Amino acid sequence: REAKKKIPSYAGLERYKLLSKMGDGAFSDVYKAVDVNTLQKVAVKVVRKYELSPVQLVYENNFANALTQKNNNLKFQRASIVKEVQIMRNLKHPSIVQLLGFIDTKEHYFLILELCEGGELFHRVVHLTYFSEELSRHCILQVAKGIYYLHEEKGIVHRDIKPENLLFDKISFMERTSPLPPPGPDDEEKEDEGEFIDGVGGGGIGRVKIADFGLSKVIWDKQTATPCGTVGYTAPEIVRDERYSKAVDMWALGCVLYTLLCGFPPFYDESIQTLTQKVAKGEFEFLSPWWDEISSEAKDLISHLLTVNADERYTIVQFLDHPWIKNAPSKSSQPK
Ligand code: ADP
Ligand code: MG
Repeated sequence: REAKKKIPSYAGLERYKLLSKMGDGAFSDVYKAVDVNTLQKVAVKVVRKYELSPVQLVYENNFANALTQKNNNLKFQRASIVKEVQIMRNLKHPSIVQLLGFIDTKEHYFLILELCEGGELFHRVVHLTYFSEELSRHCILQVAKGIYYLHEEKGIVHRDIKPENLLFDKISFMERTSPLPPPGPDDEEKEDEGEFIDGVGGGGIGRVKIADFGLSKVIWDKQTATPCGTVGYTAPEIVRDERYSKAVDMWALGCVLYTLLCGFPPFYDESIQTLTQKVAKGEFEFLSPWWDEISSEAKDLISHLLTVNADERYTIVQFLDHPWIKNAPSKSSQPK
């Protein structure tokens, strides 16, 4: 059983009572919390302004070094967190984690976020757990609608789409175990069985939301985005740049969809060097037997996303127009 970890209390965060830790990164911790005035449950992303204290650095290096490093860390974090907040402030969409507030104190930044109790999509697909086509479509469609909103309505690219940054708003699944062992040499991990998540009839599947705008970027803003006016004067490299940066999210979307359907990622190798080469060449396969039962439409869609040439790779508009998405067996409970 998991021992309850000590929950810190932070100066300046008196309005929120931290309940439990939900995630942690290099510079941030995320807690489930409650607004003590309204009793609204939220998530609080805590970002430490000072990663290393100057005193620590004095011992490790020399004083001059300590000062520059402290300043650099501070500058870097301030720039990125302010950008993250500025971008999130302008976003409002059911597929995007809502920023509810921002608190800046002496030692920390606090992002008050809409709470996603279901946790990471990542936790649902690790260890050979995979989704039915219907559930995969349900999840990826919500992510895609969020990306459409970002790319086409806001001129923003996320640049860090991955299962760790896709969160379920609530937990509700039906699970079933598949007898298929994982890919790889069959003398290893024989007992490692795949798990299949059906989700259909599970009493309503939650919404999937895009989180973590720490790496995202504005590619056009309201002033420069004139849908019909001055478009004729935009230089080709600007148009190309915009297409390339959006294409980054579409590649990632393809990787996520692949992973949802089979439970392992399209590109994998123990060696980073080999992995990098595989990605550069777009070398992936629909491995048998894991992909045998999966529809050719799903494979076709993935192939159009995992296309090395960014000019040929599907855009979010083409994605939403693909038969696997469009001609889905109609469900009265389709998310909007
Ligand atoms: P980082 O930049 O450190 O990756 P994230 O914003 O991705 O920060 O948050 C780290 C982790 O915290 C996420 O992967 C997720 O597990 C959890 N998390 C973040 N935001 C929320 C939220 N709104 N609700 C629930 N969990 C969250
Ligand atoms: Mg993250």
